[in-house]
Parts: sequence; C-alpha cells; structure tokens
Amino acid sequence: MTILDGKVASQALSAELQTQIAELKADGVTPTLAAVLVGDDPASQVYLHSKQKRAAKFGLRMLTTTLPATTTTAELIVVLQQLNQDPRVHAIMLEMPLPAQIDSQQAILALDPAKDVDGVHPLNLGYLFGGQPHAIPNTPYGILKLLDHYQLSVKHKNVVVVGRSVVVGRPLAALLLNRDATITIAHSYTENLAELTRQADILVVAVGRANFIAADAVKPGAIVIDVGMNRLADGKLVGDIDYASVVTKAGAITPVPGGVGPMTSLMLLYQTVQFARSQTKHG
Ligand code: NAP
Repeated sequence: MTILDGKVASQALSAELQTQIAELKADGVTPTLAAVLVGDDPASQVYLHSKQKRAAKFGLRMLTTTLPATTTTAELIVVLQQLNQDPRVHAIMLEMPLPAQIDSQQAILALDPAKDVDGVHPLNLGYLFGGQPHAIPNTPYGILKLLDHYQLSVKHKNVVVVGRSVVVGRPLAALLLNRDATITIAHSYTENLAELTRQADILVVAVGRANFIAADAVKPGAIVIDVGMNRLADGKLVGDIDYASVVTKAGAITPVPGGVGPMTSLMLLYQTVQFARSQTKHG
C-alpha cells in the first residue's frame, strides 16, 4: 500500500519550479500573480494571506487589489481589464465567492483567458474538454501531478469521480479522459453509488462530507484520491474518505491533511510560472 504524500510530491515539484523561476529572473522577468479580492470575507482573507506567504517564499511577485464589498460588476471589470493589459502581470486570480450584487459569470468572462490562473474562463474549460488544455484548475492539476510523481498511469483504468463541481470534478474528469481513462462522474442524484465506486480502479471523491466513503464502497487495491476537507467539531481536519477503514483496503491513498491539499496550493504558483514562461517565450 502506497501513501500518496502530497508534501513529498510538492517538494519535488517545488525544486523544478525554483529552477524555472531562477531562469526567468536571470532574464529580468519576475513571475507575477495578481489577486483580486472583493469585500472582506474572513475565509478569503486567510486563504489570500497564505498564498501571499507562499508566493514570497518562492520569490514570486504578488499584487493584491482589495475592492470594497459594495463594488459593482462594472467596477470590477474595469480593474480586471487593467490587469489584463498590464504586461508585468502574468496571472490573475479572482477570489471567490464574490458579493451577491456581482455577476460572477460576467466577471469571469472579463478575465484574459491567457492569464486565467484558476482555469475558470469558459474558453479555458473548452480547451480542456477539447483535449488541448491551456489553463487548468489548480486542484485537478495538482492531482495529475501527484499521480505523475508516483508514476501511476490512468490509461485503461476505470475511474469514478464523485462530485461534479466546475473547479474539481468536471475538469478532473476531462483531464483523465485526455489520458485515456474511462470515466464515470457521480453526484448527488447518482443511484447505488457504492455499486459504482466498488468498480473503480481509481476513485476520486470531492463531495465535502466527512468520512463519506467507507471501505465497503472501495475496490481492493484501488487508488483512492480524497479531495474533501472537512473540519469536525473538535477542530480535526478530515477528508471525504473514511481513512482508517480504507487505508487497509486501498492500493494507494492520499491522506487528509497532506495529500491533495499541498499539491493544490503549489499549482497556483506553478501555473503562474508556466504563464510567465509562455508569455515571455521561455516555455
Ligand atoms: P461542491 O462545489 O460543493 O461540489 C460537491 C459535489 O459533491 C457536487 O457535485 C454534489 O453533487 C456532490 N455531492 C453532494 N452530496 C453527494 C452525495 N450524497 N453523493 C454523491 N455526490 C454528492 O464542492 P467542491 O468545491 O468540488 O469541493 C468538494 C470538497 O473538496 C470540499 O470538501 C472542499 O473543501 C474540498 N476541496 C479541497 C481542495 C484541496 O485542495 N484539497 C480543493 C478544492 C476543494 P450535485 O452537483 O448534484 O450537487
């Protein structure tokens, strides 16, 4: 049984990233990520702060624009267009959720797809589903890199992805399809879920319910990827997989914390650097 350790895999990828950053800097380019935060959502502020700390550790420039909670869609679009046109900025991240008065879809459409580091612009989702990805949402991208680190091929494999969000389940299914896996996407209307998941050579769960999948729903020897992050009443962080029971049955499994999470965090910076390379012809 293999523990798919996101800390180990992200350290290996960090080394590659540091080399790429050094090359860019030697040519006078500092990879730059612009973050836009609208309002004062405390959770978004905490996430943003940790992203700033991580970017600084790698020597990336992060420009943060904080707009008042009363910002209109039109005002936000003006800010995004300025960042689109700023040649110093290689990647733009629009913190979600946006306040209710803002039309999120209009805001996303205003992003330059070439700088859309979260991969949420419909053009980028289209490229991804067409098999020619440009920008990839961070969590599925991190899962791919984690599988690559452990040299786990998905070709010929029967994959079940539980959860169909635009940031996790759907893009992950497209990425794995591009790698010749056979994909089933399950969601809250799926019937007989355990019957499906028991057939999975690779099971990915991104639902957001603590210990949702137990050992009886897992095929012996399966590769199990737990995307869930659920905070219990006692403060403990657990995934969507009942780790204690599944760990003895799976062939490989991601822990929570320390599995998908560290990969997701790194992919934001990784993709910023890839954008900087392609925009400055280093790629
Ligand atoms: P989301 O947008 O809430 O989507 C949850 C998905 O789960 C939906 O597609 C939903 O189906 C499905 N679902 C809900 N109940 C179900 C059930 N009983 N059976 C089958 N499917 C069910 O969540 P998300 O943004 O994808 O995130 C999912 C989890 O991953 C959360 O815990 C989140 O915190 C975590 N997460 C972790 C990372 C990381 O880096 N580790 C990154 C992103 C997210 P419907 O579509 O039918 O409603």
